[in-house]
Amino acid sequence: MIDSHCHLNDDRFDEDLDEVLTRSYDAGVRHAVVIGYDLPSSRKAVELADRDVARGHPALSAVVGVSTHQAAEWSDQAGEEIEKLLDHERVVGLGETGLDDYYPEPSRSDQERSLVAQLEIAKAKKVPVVFHLRDAADDFFEILDRVGFAGPGVLHCFTGDENAMRMGIERNLFVSYSGIVTFKKSTELQAVAAKTPLESILVETDAPYLAPVPNRGKRCEPAHVVDTARVVAGLLGVEVKTLEDHVENNLLRLFPKIGAYSTQV
Ligand SMILES: [Zn+2]
Repeated sequence: MIDSHCHLNDDRFDEDLDEVLTRSYDAGVRHAVVIGYDLPSSRKAVELADRDVARGHPALSAVVGVSTHQAAEWSDQAGEEIEKLLDHERVVGLGETGLDDYYPEPSRSDQERSLVAQLEIAKAKKVPVVFHLRDAADDFFEILDRVGFAGPGVLHCFTGDENAMRMGIERNLFVSYSGIVTFKKSTELQAVAAKTPLESILVETDAPYLAPVPNRGKRCEPAHVVDTARVVAGLLGVEVKTLEDHVENNLLRLFPKIGAYSTQV
C-alpha cells in the first residue's frame, strides 16, 4: 500500500517519527509522499525523503510548494527556491497548490497569483502537481486551461462532486481520497468515489489531519491509509488487493521519478 499525501514534516511528528514509520510499514505501507505547504515544510520534506530507508520503514519522497493557505507568502524568491528543490533526486513533484474558497483568507487574488506562478514552473520543468481544491472547481479548471497545464497532477483530499471528478480526469489528473470518505456523513462523496475509474484513483491520509474511521479525531498517520483503502475498495466493489495494485501503479504514473530511485512501492 502507498500513502500518496501526508505531512510527516508537521511538528506533530517530531517526537516519534520512527515509531510512526514503523507502524506504517507494519500496516503494509511501502511508500509515502511527504508534501510541503511553505518553504520551511518543503525543505523538511526533502530532508525526510533524503534519509536512506531504514529496514522496516516505508520509502519517502517529497513534493515541494506553497499551499493555498500560505499563498500570501508567494514571491519570486520563493519560486526560485522551489525550482531549485525540484532538481533534487527525491523531489517528485510540485505542490500543494490550488484554490480554496472555504476560508476567506488569503485573498483569492493571492491564491491565483501563487497558483499560476507554480503552474508555470511545473510546465517549464515538466513536473507533476499536487492540487488542493475546495469549493472553487470552475475557476480552478478555467485557470488550468488558461495556463495550459496538461498534467499529470492529482486532486488531493478530493471532496468535489462527480462533475469535478470528471473535469479533473479529463485534464490528466488523478483523484485522491482521504479519510473524509470513511465518515458516516460523507454519503455524497462515497457515491462519487464509487464511480471513480480505477485507472485514476489514489488514496492518502493527509496526516496528521483527517484520520479515517475508526481513528477519527486522533492524530492521523500513514498506517491509517489502509482503513481508507478498505472503504474505497468496498465502494468500488473490488478486492482491497485490486485497489492496492492500481494505486501503486497510479502513484508511479503520477510521479515517475519515484521509480527511478525507489524499488519499494
Ligand atoms: Zn495536505
